[in-house]
Amino acid sequence: MRTIGFAIGLIIVVGVIGYVFFIQKETDQTAPGQRLERETTEYVEFSQLNPLFRFAARVPEQFEIGSDLFITSFRASEFLTLETVTIYRREPTLVNGHDAVIYEIEKKADAPRFSGQPEWRNQRHTAIDVRLSKANPTIFYSFAFRPEIEQTVIDAFLDSLAFHNDRDSFKPPLERFGERIVKKRFGMYVTPQNSPVEPEFFIGYHTGVDYEIFPEEETKDVPVFAICGGELRSKRSATGYGGVAMQECLLKDMPITIVYGHLALSSVEKAAGAYLIPGETIGHLAPAGPEAGGGRKHLHLGMHRGTALDIRGYVQTEEELGNWLNPASLQLQYEKADLIRVNKPKPNGAVQSPLLVEGEARGFWFFEASFPIQLLDGNGKQIAIAVAQAQDEWK
Ligand SMILES: [Zn+2]
Repeated sequence: MRTIGFAIGLIIVVGVIGYVFFIQKETDQTAPGQRLERETTEYVEFSQLNPLFRFAARVPEQFEIGSDLFITSFRASEFLTLETVTIYRREPTLVNGHDAVIYEIEKKADAPRFSGQPEWRNQRHTAIDVRLSKANPTIFYSFAFRPEIEQTVIDAFLDSLAFHNDRDSFKPPLERFGERIVKKRFGMYVTPQNSPVEPEFFIGYHTGVDYEIFPEEETKDVPVFAICGGELRSKRSATGYGGVAMQECLLKDMPITIVYGHLALSSVEKAAGAYLIPGETIGHLAPAGPEAGGGRKHLHLGMHRGTALDIRGYVQTEEELGNWLNPASLQLQYEKADLIRVNKPKPNGAVQSPLLVEGEARGFWFFEASFPIQLLDGNGKQIAIAVAQAQDEWK
């Protein structure tokens, strides 16, 4: 285990927030000859340091004592032009699908020193600016690395970055999510006559998905988790819901609002305006009855385009339904991001023969530790086919 601390860096440009990221190893407090097992990397949720840092990443063991990594964030429409530094290299690239520019920079001799930042920020070093979304303006993140950090370590860190607007960063709202019964699907036209639940109070197109509880959950607290990273916009009681919470998130470049219906309002501890991390507990489901709006204990999960606070559980026309999105389409239970991860080649990188494809795959879908890889050209025509072989950890 390691402890992680941080200190606020001096704000140089208006609107830029800097953090020096310190990672310190704990002193081993063990009997002579005994050693502590340490994890080689640790997944760090950076929004815990600052809600503007909407990403998580594996922090390599090599990032040791002191400030190996310096992060700033700024809001802008375009990548910034750096005037206080000499740019030796400026190369557009992609970081897990996000537009980015990698720089090799050095502070100009006549420019003021970057005070409040690690000393090496005044020397020649590598930095990368990453654009959160294509929206204008958007948040940019600038990651600067101590010059001694090896390129492979930098690459591993960048490869592991998961931004909160990546679909893959979205989390299931309930435990054992894939096993839940869904009685009311998205878009279903409900009437008291055809409803799968009784009594039915509503008529209209269902704007969300209802996830049912397991019998043993009837009498215990069932936590509800934020499916994405974003601000808690509002929490209140509303007819038909009991407690309802709304959260604003980004799905790729699209602002969306999530509706969590039938919560026990008193269990929602965070205040409106607070930032919720993907997977963070929002509160608990309300027990059946008045606290749940009069009905059974279950989660109504709605998702609509834009940031207007529309909490309607039903709409009367298909046209109105068009503004709503099907939460089931996120396929939250599969966590596809974890299934395949390609480390080499890099997106948009040029390749030549022989081509080595390297990465990680997980799951039941590949047969006897091997699976085919197709190489397609720009028109989708197959150029080559090969069989990938698992190198280790085949079970
Ligand atoms: Zn519902």
